[in-house]
Amino acid sequence: MHATRADGSIETIEVHTAVVNAAGVWADEVRTLDEGTNPDSIRPAKGIHITVPWDKVRNDIAAVVPVPGDKRSVFVVPWGRFTFIGTTDTDYDGPVDDPQCTAEDVDYLLAAINGAVVEPLDHNDVLGTWAGLRPLVKAAPGGRTADLSRRHSVVHSTSGVVTVTGGKLTTYREMAADAIDHLMAEVLTGEAVRLTYRPTQPDPQAGPAWRRGVRPCAVAG
Ligand SMILES: Cc1cc2nc3c(=O)[nH]c(=O)nc-3n(C[C@H](O)[C@H](O)[C@H](O)COP(=O)(O)OP(=O)(O)OC[C@H]3O[C@@H](n4cnc5c(N)ncnc54)[C@H](O)[C@@H]3O)c2cc1C
Repeated sequence: MHATRADGSIETIEVHTAVVNAAGVWADEVRTLDEGTNPDSIRPAKGIHITVPWDKVRNDIAAVVPVPGDKRSVFVVPWGRFTFIGTTDTDYDGPVDDPQCTAEDVDYLLAAINGAVVEPLDHNDVLGTWAGLRPLVKAAPGGRTADLSRRHSVVHSTSGVVTVTGGKLTTYREMAADAIDHLMAEVLTGEAVRLTYRPTQPDPQAGPAWRRGVRPCAVAG
């Protein structure tokens, strides 16, 4: 393949192709297409949020509220006339395309907020709900999903498809770098040159944190 540099010169580039499966909670479905069997490597953890009228909470800033009787906390975030409250963290074994909020999920969040407000909220105050699934890496069976590691894993199949799963939004750069390193070391061995760069040492002169390459850190969620 030929590429034109900024100075107008033409360079010949050798192109190698590879497939990276970063399909989140659907990653096992993609692996099934490649490997023929479902590796059952993901333990989906459902998280729901509820929307309530802001004047039922009246919080000027986002707050973190401990859940009574649980070692978790939930975020309470004002958004105009509304306040968003979440999230839960529970095992999920239904269809990954369509996670649903249950009455128990809503009860959990109402109990959490009611531990922090003077006038309790009930189901009638819930204007909306939404649910998502965390693609957690399956570890030993048992235990709460909330206590499960948020670390990510990178594997490859015999056909060379690299799969990256787990992790968090806040660790996406590390996940991407690890996936590319794995691809280079295990699949495209000796064939290709890595052009991306993995910053490890923060450069105080380089401006905002994201440009300095400060390593991402995980937060609750
Ligand atoms: C309620 C909740 C709260 C969370 N809170 C936090 C938090 O506070 N902090 C934090 O860091 N993380 C948080 N997370 C986790 C974070 O959202 C996930 O870890 C992250 O989104 C996973 O990113 P991903 O790119 O691996 O997967 P996704 O973001 O799910 O992306 C996968 C993509 O693959 C696509 N796809 C699927 N199948 C195919 C296919 N066959 N072909 C092509 N594309 C396909 C999908 O459409 C999707 O776009 C939370 C998650 C949830 C559900």
